[in-house]
Amino acid sequence: AAKAAGRNCLRIFDEAMREKIQLRVRLASDLRTALKAEQLSVHYQPIIDLFSGQVIKAEALLRWEHPELGQVSPEVFIPIAEETGAIHEIGNWVFREAARVAMQWNHQELTEDSVLRRISVNRSPRQFFTREGCDDWLAHLHDQGIPGEVLGVEITEGLLLDDRPDVMRQLTAFRSAGIAISLDDFGTGYSALSYLKKFDIDYLKIDRSFVQDIVSTEGSRAIVESIASMAVRLGMQVIAEGVEEPAQAEVLTAIGCRLAQGYLYARPMPEQAFMAFAAAEIETPTLR
Ligand code: C2E
Ligand code: MG
Ligand code: MG
Ligand code: MG
Repeated sequence: AAKAAGRNCLRIFDEAMREKIQLRVRLASDLRTALKAEQLSVHYQPIIDLFSGQVIKAEALLRWEHPELGQVSPEVFIPIAEETGAIHEIGNWVFREAARVAMQWNHQELTEDSVLRRISVNRSPRQFFTREGCDDWLAHLHDQGIPGEVLGVEITEGLLLDDRPDVMRQLTAFRSAGIAISLDDFGTGYSALSYLKKFDIDYLKIDRSFVQDIVSTEGSRAIVESIASMAVRLGMQVIAEGVEEPAQAEVLTAIGCRLAQGYLYARPMPEQAFMAFAAAEIETPTLR
């Protein structure tokens, strides 16, 4: 009986594996036509200045509405797009969309003050490892006459680990064009802090996992506070990711973390909704 049960387990395991693989193969294939079929869209999530209550930045986040499966999470399809190489075409499209929206946003807001608002775009390591490198994005800005100052690029720690000269060159080219560099999901990766002085980074995005228990856990609070003060001394700004509760925003304000992104303020949303939202002022904790 034990042997039979063992066989059963194996069969169930096999089947689950097969289904998983089949889904991946299907998504990889469907993803090739998703852009042309207009199933992809870019949503924009506001980034708030907790001191002024204004939306000063935003992050572009890709969405896929599959005709049969509905919304597929980027956590699922981005790794597939990276594997198949589809990330290049899709990623370039996201960047162009973000650049267009960033120009519109700044035209709308420029009457009030002269501070430029940036939209940042995630860029996978694979997008750096091509012959064209950063040229695809920079050429687009050049052609359209769009200043880099309205855009940002979000990278993860893993990209910096190998210390590749071509990566360094591309990041430098982005920055020379006025594009800000954000280090995404900070604290979850390798946390070899030495690269922070080698590369010019403008923003550290503190991962949601630290922000989550910043109110209840002294350790997380200490980590975020240390990251914030280190960042300031290195000339970087800090963005807290995944702020969901007012109490978290209060702690962040108290420890000097000025910028925040999360469901408490707004979920990622389509262009039109984002434009309307960005014009409003948001209630934030008052400084004590
Ligand atoms: P990310 O760059 O770290 O983006 C932040 C993620 O946190 C987004 O997930 C966002 O919707 C989510 N988020 C924001 N606020 C909250 C909150 O308060 N609570 C919780 N629980 N989550 C929050 P999303 O949109 O599912 O994207 C997942 C990841 O997919 C992104 O993580 C990024 O790594 C990748 N991704 C998305 N769009 C692109 C893209 O255009 N290109 C590339 N290369 N990667 C992308
Ligand atoms: Mg990001
Ligand atoms: Mg992130
Ligand atoms: Mg992430």
